[in-house]
Amino acid sequence: MPEIAVYPGTFDPITNGHIDIIRRASGLFEKVIVLVIENREKSPLFSMDERVKFASFATKKFKGVVVDSYKGLLVEYAKIKEIKTIIRGLRAVSDFDYEFQLTQLNRKLYPAVETIFIMPGEEYFFLSSSSVKEIAAYGGNVSGFVPEIVAKGLSGIRTTKRGKGL
Ligand code: ADP
Repeated sequence: MPEIAVYPGTFDPITNGHIDIIRRASGLFEKVIVLVIENREKSPLFSMDERVKFASFATKKFKGVVVDSYKGLLVEYAKIKEIKTIIRGLRAVSDFDYEFQLTQLNRKLYPAVETIFIMPGEEYFFLSSSSVKEIAAYGGNVSGFVPEIVAKGLSGIRTTKRGKGL
């Protein structure tokens, strides 16, 4: 059985839903790498450094969990590190189509890799980074949805130009 798995994502920003997946994964694997990916399509609100900082702070309590970042294809990272297990979170039905395509593509690019899906606790089924950013942009309270360090980071963006146009 593989002892190491990678949990990739944009994590813009990391939410309590992501953390629930990380907690569950850390109970299954000796080492879990939370991999912050650049994501050219989503033009993230937070920089790579900020996203890594938030993820590192929010996951430091979990044994065997480390945070890394990569500006390239996930499968390239996995090949270089010889990782054969990818973890993804699965929420409501809407995630399925995208995750299904991604899994097939990754399998084509790296046949040895397997994707494992973990469902979060039901309180996280409808939680997403984009909804959290939307709430924060309108001055709503996000403290129940994200770690404290992220809530602070989001309150900062409302007062800067980055808070506009979300
Ligand atoms: P990506 O751009 O790669 O989808 P995200 O940061 O949006 O990056 O998500 C990373 C992974 O975490 C995805 O598999 C996504 O479905 C999952 N995820 C996001 N939010 C939640 C949540 N609230 N509960 C469980 N899984 C989630």
